[in-house]
Amino acid sequence: MSNFIATPTRTKAILNKYNFAFKKSLGQNFLVDVNVLENIIRHAGINKDTAVIEIGPGIGALTEQLAIHAEKVVAFEIDQRLLPILEDTLQDYSNITVIHEDILKANVVQVIKEQFKPNQGIHIVANLPYYITTPILMKLVQDKLPVSSITVMIQKEVADRMAAEPNTKSYGSLTIALKYYTEAEVVMTVPSTVFMPKPNVDSAILRLTMRQNPPVHVENEDFFFRLVKASFAQRRKTLQNNLKSFYKDKAEKERIQDLLEKAEIDGKRRGESLSIEEFARLANTFWKAEQ
Ligand code: SAM
Repeated sequence: MSNFIATPTRTKAILNKYNFAFKKSLGQNFLVDVNVLENIIRHAGINKDTAVIEIGPGIGALTEQLAIHAEKVVAFEIDQRLLPILEDTLQDYSNITVIHEDILKANVVQVIKEQFKPNQGIHIVANLPYYITTPILMKLVQDKLPVSSITVMIQKEVADRMAAEPNTKSYGSLTIALKYYTEAEVVMTVPSTVFMPKPNVDSAILRLTMRQNPPVHVENEDFFFRLVKASFAQRRKTLQNNLKSFYKDKAEKERIQDLLEKAEIDGKRRGESLSIEEFARLANTFWKAEQ
């Protein structure tokens, strides 16, 4: 029997030793299955030359396996109570740095410069806190970090959104953002029994491979993403009505119909029916009209 952190017995012993109470509000569901961790690491493509950024190490279940397989691991943890625990559980590994910080506020580019070798292959790996999966993924892709891939355990329902097609309930601005920056693949689904405590939902491992070039040409990325978000703002509304709410100015509102025609998109359609190519055409037409 291994004495890895990611076993029910060792995890229970650590939790008891520190009298640790899970904070549901921080999405604390710890992994207690080494096989699942090995699958995550295999799909992330990690080896002894690679550097890894982990989000939310918890008591160190995944961190320990990452330290064994990678050259260096930097982990961001928001919960101060976990810092002394991690110091204890990970004391045998000299290639781990834990940073006490909210990942949404962290300057990850700066941390990469300080912590890793220049031009080192970097991967992000995490069992994400489910309450903020979308903002974390959005930040990671939009910050344009010099990383090769992002491999994360997430709620299965969110994983489905990555691969969603237009006109489905799951299709949304997250689908478009991830399509733009990455190639997304759901590599396996995971039962709730591998977590402590068990979450109420099924989970899945998602691998995002960063693209060298986006699949569509966009004149201004910031505008593109704001327009996509506005198009999904009220899903029951037509595209033209969502765009009317996006443009506050009366004169601009009056031009919406003309610009929709110019972009050859029917304003009576719903935002959720547009492909990424159509969103790019729409955003580029509106952007150029503003210049
Ligand atoms: N990696 C551990 C494992 O697999 O057992 C724990 C995963 S648990 C699902 C999520 C972890 O993320 C918790 O340790 C939680 O405290 C931490 N966390 C939650 N919000 C965070 C944030 N905004 N920034 C950094 N860590 C966060």
